[in-house]
Amino acid sequence: MSIRKKRQADAATEVSERAQRVAEHLAALVRVPTVAPDSSRPLTEAEEEAFARHRALLREFYPAVFAAAETEMVGRAGLLMRLPGAATERPVVLMAHQDVVPVPQDWKAEGWEHPPFDGVIADGRVHGRGTLDDKGALVVLMEALEELLAAGWEPARDVWLLFGGDEEQHGASAVAATALLEERGVEPWLVLDEGGAVASEAFPGVAAPMAVIGASEKGVLTAELSVESQGGHASMPPRQSAPGILAKALVAVESNPFPVGLHDLSVEMFEGVAPHLRGPKRALLGRARKLRGPLARVMPRLGAELAAMVRTTVAITMVNGSPAQNVLATRATAVLNCRIAVGSTVAATVAHLESVIGDERVAVSVVEGSEPSPVSPTIGDPRWEALVDAVGEAYPDAVTVPYVMMAASDARHVARIAPAVYRFSPLAMDKRQREAIHGPNENVQIEALEPGVDFYRALLTGAALGGLTAAGGASEPSLT
Ligand SMILES: [Zn+2]
Repeated sequence: MSIRKKRQADAATEVSERAQRVAEHLAALVRVPTVAPDSSRPLTEAEEEAFARHRALLREFYPAVFAAAETEMVGRAGLLMRLPGAATERPVVLMAHQDVVPVPQDWKAEGWEHPPFDGVIADGRVHGRGTLDDKGALVVLMEALEELLAAGWEPARDVWLLFGGDEEQHGASAVAATALLEERGVEPWLVLDEGGAVASEAFPGVAAPMAVIGASEKGVLTAELSVESQGGHASMPPRQSAPGILAKALVAVESNPFPVGLHDLSVEMFEGVAPHLRGPKRALLGRARKLRGPLARVMPRLGAELAAMVRTTVAITMVNGSPAQNVLATRATAVLNCRIAVGSTVAATVAHLESVIGDERVAVSVVEGSEPSPVSPTIGDPRWEALVDAVGEAYPDAVTVPYVMMAASDARHVARIAPAVYRFSPLAMDKRQREAIHGPNENVQIEALEPGVDFYRALLTGAALGGLTAAGGASEPSLT
């Protein structure tokens, strides 16, 4: 590369001082391996130490936030903070989680280009576990608050911050925080947690980035299928063994998928996308409301992601039989991980499984179940519009649409006490980056961090949140 070309390339990737600062804060947090602690036991000493170090870094990086906030620990490693506003009614709850999913011992074999917990800054990116899920969002939120508070901003209404410490392990700290908020009579007006993103390459044929905001999330059912049998020596097997009966049940489950249906939120999403498409796709998705039935039927044939949008899904995960090669199994089990469509229930999911299995020898038991989240209001609701406006400020080219989130987040716990819960991380992510979440080479672009900060700033100071204004401005909270 010529020197001139090299200079041009450097200029193109040059980042502002502000972005560099945010990137360094994020990298420092990534270097603390706050791997989600197993939900069945107290924290180990090493885990205690990691979360304490993580909290200490937050205090160091965001002194104005910690000075202004009342801070308490919730659950084993969760943080709940309240930034008192002029009014306590209809507060805003902003969430992110501090914990991350683990990496395999041999992370090199998984394909990591940089050590997952080194927080390497290279090629205009911050690399490592948690950069996108979810320390990136945590950092840009805190940066926005720090900047605002340092400039003398006073919130017009209470802003609560909830940073779970075990989101990736059922979210006990978010459950505890929700109970605390409920006990104190806090009725959140708006809740925002991780979920969607500013996604490029999200829809084939759409050039604009799509800000997809989860307005609901699917439920989760972990079910165990079990078959008991007499066991005995493998030299004299019965006609039907426990694993054989179980296998038949598993085949029945996979060959009888749940019925399809296109939810209102998916219709809204397609209607939002349609104007940015061309040709037949534009015409088709523009009429999604009328074509719900045919669309729902065709989507499962177009890939796993679209299939998951229109129905309850079942994944067979753990299968167990005999503990030895020459011993008959006395018990065979399989775990089904089901993601329940919005509009369905845990009970309906169990009933479907029992009916397609149709064999009384196969017991279906619920290991853990959580219902799909209530659907939060979208187009026309001031809270939805506040999010759309904030996206517009930070990402002028982006198209904002609602969707049903397929994964589970801490937001589902808070949804119990809040009517408007949204799931969105205001960070730009391409397809490869989205696929790296929970996988190798998780990374965020440094240039994606500033718009993330700007999103939270715009949200917190926007008119819809009730006249949260900068110091010196007329602060007339209009809590409508
Ligand atoms: Zn997450």
